[in-house]
Amino acid sequence: MNKLDSGVEILPQIGPKRAAQLANLGIATVRDLLLWLPRGYEDRRRVTPIADAAEGDTVTIQAEVVKARAVRLRGRMSLAVATLRDESGECQATWFGRGFLARTFEPGARGLFTGKVGKYKGKALKNPDYEMLSGDEEDLLHTGRVVPIYRLTEKVTQRMLRRWVWEALQCCADDLEEPLPRRLRSKYKFPEAREAIRVAHFPEETAGAEKARSRFAYEELLEIQLGVLGERAERLHEETGIRHVTAGPLLKAFRKSLPYPLTKAQSRAVEDILSDLESPRPMLRLVQGDVGSGKTVVAVHAMAAAADGGYQTAVMAPTEVLAEQHFLVLREMLEPLGPWVELLTGSMKGAAKARRRIARGEAHVVVGTHALIQEKTEFNRLGLVVIDEQHRFGVFQRNELTAKGLNPDVLHMTATPIPRTLAITVYGGMDVTVIDELPPGRMPVKTRRVPAEKTPDLHNYIRERAREKLQTYYVCPLVEESDKRELAAVTTHFAELSAGPLSGVRTALMHGRLAADEKEAIMRDFKAGRTDVLFSTTVIEVGVDVPNATTMVIEDAAQFGLTQLHQLRGRVGRGSVQSYCFLLGTPKTEEGARRLDVMCRTASGFEIAEEDLKLRGPGEFYGVKQAGLSDLRAADLIRDVRLLDHARRDAQEILRRDPGLAKPEHALIAARARRFRQMLA
Ligand code: ADP
Ligand code: MG
Repeated sequence: MNKLDSGVEILPQIGPKRAAQLANLGIATVRDLLLWLPRGYEDRRRVTPIADAAEGDTVTIQAEVVKARAVRLRGRMSLAVATLRDESGECQATWFGRGFLARTFEPGARGLFTGKVGKYKGKALKNPDYEMLSGDEEDLLHTGRVVPIYRLTEKVTQRMLRRWVWEALQCCADDLEEPLPRRLRSKYKFPEAREAIRVAHFPEETAGAEKARSRFAYEELLEIQLGVLGERAERLHEETGIRHVTAGPLLKAFRKSLPYPLTKAQSRAVEDILSDLESPRPMLRLVQGDVGSGKTVVAVHAMAAAADGGYQTAVMAPTEVLAEQHFLVLREMLEPLGPWVELLTGSMKGAAKARRRIARGEAHVVVGTHALIQEKTEFNRLGLVVIDEQHRFGVFQRNELTAKGLNPDVLHMTATPIPRTLAITVYGGMDVTVIDELPPGRMPVKTRRVPAEKTPDLHNYIRERAREKLQTYYVCPLVEESDKRELAAVTTHFAELSAGPLSGVRTALMHGRLAADEKEAIMRDFKAGRTDVLFSTTVIEVGVDVPNATTMVIEDAAQFGLTQLHQLRGRVGRGSVQSYCFLLGTPKTEEGARRLDVMCRTASGFEIAEEDLKLRGPGEFYGVKQAGLSDLRAADLIRDVRLLDHARRDAQEILRRDPGLAKPEHALIAARARRFRQMLA
């Protein structure tokens, strides 16, 4: 038997008790242990002498504990303070709110302390991460190098895991098989498994470690994709979709009519979609792209192709406001070229007439809410369904369409890199395209926190912008004052600011309790520039496009989740003027404060999603557990979207060339793909 498949107990220092603790992490065999990849690294090549540690730097020092004590603060808070010493001098280390730690530091003990240098009775490391040393040669595993940091379980420390993994590498790393065909390894310049596993655990450089980790992440994703796609291929075998024409006159004319060149990412997305459309297999694709990345234009290519073949398109939006916006945009783009664009919503007048045009096939593109496909709307030849911001609908019911005797191609678009979409991707068999590029010339929105004493300045700022005809969104969390949580209420703010600091500025109020036509009228006024400041709840969250709006103010910003804050911010920064997002309110929790910091630091949706995952933890994300995806070892469903994209394409390619995965070079990945299939079944 391969040593890799033996229980971890064959390693020195691991007995039944330790083995049981490792089992909590799902680690049973030596292979499991080796594939327990670090969640991060700490660069301990550079140890800073205490004398050289400068305030504001983040440093690692190696020092001896002189003494440690707990200090009582106000209330029930306490502070642990340790005095540390090395050859160059002394400093303090403090742990706020964790006085109990003082007991664990014995005078004379040596350890590594990593943290930011601040002040407490002189120089002090604030809340440093630390690791105590034993004084024997084993310390060489833990100091003077880039060290791995693992996810842990109770009673198992970083030191132990590092030691055990090291032993496992010595004994068995050479037995690790290479499941990736050479062709793919060289395509991505991935190191071989044996070498990669060493680098992933004990890298010389942190950059090398990431490459090694991504190799295993890719491998994992490829296996999953082979499993899922293999199954989908079987399922779709009899299903026959539409072979759309993709070189027709309308698509050509549309391409010509675009006033700007597509970004590379947009072109790639268009290619993916067109090749789905011309294939007889029904498309089920998700286009994921940050707000403002230009998804709409990508989707219009598909609509033009459908119309070229005489097929109709249904475009579904989550709200009527958004449906109307899409309608206006699509009409502007398509009608000069010939196709008829129709709006159909539950509340509009003239719905009956519209329905007749749809049924007769005179309407080529129909925009509406979800009701569009549920109601007794009859299409003449529905060939394409485009769903915007699909997460609002939950999991989409494809059956509703197939029940109508149609088998249209389906395109989902979302601006939110939520894990659920990825979970769907993985087990639901959706193809994913990522638009990871913004059109050139976009200025990222600048984000600032505004303390209470600065709000008069903010009001001035808004007034000045209004004078320049630049508009402002003013978003508040709730419709009415809630005694319990003292949330800012949009109605109160609207009334107070309109009468006070913003008097003379044209303000409007919109919230979810208004009737649909009222909301639309307000939105229309704002889009047309007849209002300067729109007070609103989060109803404006998704997709609204008003290039002239350059300021976003968010009351009680810490009450919002990161993803939502990012969506809201995406409402501005759509034109060529520098836009600002102002976050108000004092966070009540540390997490809330961190969310606001993240917002100020980055404008990238991918980074935001990653931080969101870090803050909330994978357990918080619905769908992930059920899909068996919490078992992923190396891959990270948020961070690795692009890797997933690659794996997806490669899996398709492999299945095209070798449908039964019978070639010897595919033997290993095939075996694991089958395992995933069983797991997800
Ligand atoms: P999304 O739906 O992804 O948030 P939109 O499709 O609404 O983004 O596009 C945002 C804006 O960018 C629109 O005004 C659109 O006309 C413009 N746009 C899209 N693609 C490009 C491009 N390649 N170059 C310049 N502007 C673009
Ligand atoms: Mg959009």
